[in-house]
Amino acid sequence: MFFDSYDTPVFRPPSEARSFILRVTRGCAHNKCKYCNMYEGVQFQVLTEEEVDRQIMMAANFNKRGVRRVFLADGDALVLSTERLLAILKKLRETFPNFERCASYAAPKDVLRKSVEELRMLREAGLELLYYGMESGDSETLAAVNKGVDGEESIEVGKRVKAAGMKLSMMIILGLAGREGSKRHALATAHAISEIRPTMLGAICLMLYRGSELKEQFERGEFDPLPPAGLMEELRMIIENVNLPEDEECIFRSNHISNYVPLAATLPQDKEQLLDDIDYSITELKKLKDWDVYNHDKYGTY
Ligand code: SF4
Repeated sequence: MFFDSYDTPVFRPPSEARSFILRVTRGCAHNKCKYCNMYEGVQFQVLTEEEVDRQIMMAANFNKRGVRRVFLADGDALVLSTERLLAILKKLRETFPNFERCASYAAPKDVLRKSVEELRMLREAGLELLYYGMESGDSETLAAVNKGVDGEESIEVGKRVKAAGMKLSMMIILGLAGREGSKRHALATAHAISEIRPTMLGAICLMLYRGSELKEQFERGEFDPLPPAGLMEELRMIIENVNLPEDEECIFRSNHISNYVPLAATLPQDKEQLLDDIDYSITELKKLKDWDVYNHDKYGTY
């Protein structure tokens, strides 16, 4: 359920489909990642207390007992001060008798502005899950796409969230460094995953969205995207080099609309099976002749 206006786009992770989407900011404060067009043209804004309260009241009037999970939108709710977030979480707990937990996207610089102690307070207040688009653990790749942090900082983000006892759903983008930087991106990303040990790990394939700077670079011949088999070879290199403790479980999913082959595994237990599945996919994808037709509107352009 969502009660703010649709004048600007609303995004949420698929797993938050049944949550109350509470908009606390509009757009994304960073809004500079070259592969992203989610909030193109949207003026970033922090919603006022009154605007947030109005949505909470509307959700309460609609189905007070039905609200169990809440997702704080838009792109980086953690840009709000800890104090403000704690006040919103308090209001949610007071309003919805069956409130279970809250989640939000986590832009890296916002997490780095918060201490582990602040994150722990937020977790104890109900913000239990963060969706973190790390995209890559490689500094060169991150700089090329304007992510705003380097590889080391990316790792620090994940570690801080885990140290606060929050669940961490982390996303990486296959093909983000193109053909040329694929190996570098894969190895540094595998290292970052091993260091962070996320609760959930998602791998999506790069899509060149209309309005994104990366698409313009591609059109000028300045970005050479990986073909489908190359994306899977990159994923193989990542999974092969990820080392997670045997007694931990990381849910791996690669089933976004951008993925050529849906994959699912629990790491590290299913690592060998996952590598076998990837190898099979590589063999099959290499048979594609005219592979660009398999991407939306040529090379994944929306
Ligand atoms: S990827 Fe996330 S942080 Fe980057 S511009 Fe898009 S919404 Fe903002």
